Amino acid sequence: MTRYHSVSGGAGSWLAAKVDMAAHPNEEHRFLFADTLYEDADCYRFLIEGIAHLIDRDVSNVLPRASDFPDYRVLGEFDIATYAGNPEWRAFLAQLRADVAEVMPELTWLVEGRDPWEVFRDRKFLGNSRIDPCSKVLKRDFLAAWLDVNADKAADIICVGIGPDEAHRYHVLAQRQMAAGWQYEAPLLGTFEGDIGAFVYLAKAGIERPRLYRKNYIHNNCGGFCIKAGHAHYQNRFYADPERYAYDAMMERKLAEYIGKPVTMLTDRANDNVKKPLSLDEFAERMLAKPQFIFEYEPGSSGCGCMVDYEEAA
Ligand code: SF4
Repeated sequence: MTRYHSVSGGAGSWLAAKVDMAAHPNEEHRFLFADTLYEDADCYRFLIEGIAHLIDRDVSNVLPRASDFPDYRVLGEFDIATYAGNPEWRAFLAQLRADVAEVMPELTWLVEGRDPWEVFRDRKFLGNSRIDPCSKVLKRDFLAAWLDVNADKAADIICVGIGPDEAHRYHVLAQRQMAAGWQYEAPLLGTFEGDIGAFVYLAKAGIERPRLYRKNYIHNNCGGFCIKAGHAHYQNRFYADPERYAYDAMMERKLAEYIGKPVTMLTDRANDNVKKPLSLDEFAERMLAKPQFIFEYEPGSSGCGCMVDYEEAA
């Protein structure tokens, strides 16, 4: 019997694994990471350092610093029809995966091979807060296919890092996975640790929290990009990571041109009765015009939960 921990590079899934390992010290524990190839460099650092801490493994010879990574972006002009990420970035990740597999085989690092923009392009569909083809293809379906081949439905447990504030997500997930024959657990639900949150435990372990949290992001997925995120999230990104925001806006523009429709991630809600697409370019203009206007995070407005949400199929 194996307890698989679905880890995202976020602090929540790290703490969930830690809590579960303490509760089941004599079981075999393994870690599953579905890589979108679009994570923040420091997310990869945290993923490796965090799991190494949990299994008491010295990974100092392979642990990268965020500054070691090449740029994830493709610089200069390019055609989205042939876009395949920055080759230097992808080669760095491939080498890192190989190096980590050598020293930490408990981590299964899954790679579908595309990033979210490639999925949107190939499907001619930009995801949104309700429909997330990126996480469906690159994470949920890919992980499910791996489990079907490699895990034992009758014996193994899949643990997810859902915290108390996201309990609704667990109930949807558990129902769906139980119907498929899998046993899922959310080790943080109903625990003291879940209420306290991961940052205290990370500090105690001497592990620096991923830098996106330090920039006021609520999640650590996709380098802070997310098609499910809302106005508050992109406002934070605009000020905390202007170069990344500009890259998101350019990719959104390119994809809309490629699809031939004005598709956007955000929706204009200036008029409550009429929903209109709101591009990141337009949203940036509004923020610059009215910098005093601060959007508040709403529950779920930061997107994500993308490993566990099952919304409408794209
Ligand atoms: S974080 Fe957002 S953009 Fe990235 S895979 Fe999940 S839903 Fe898609």
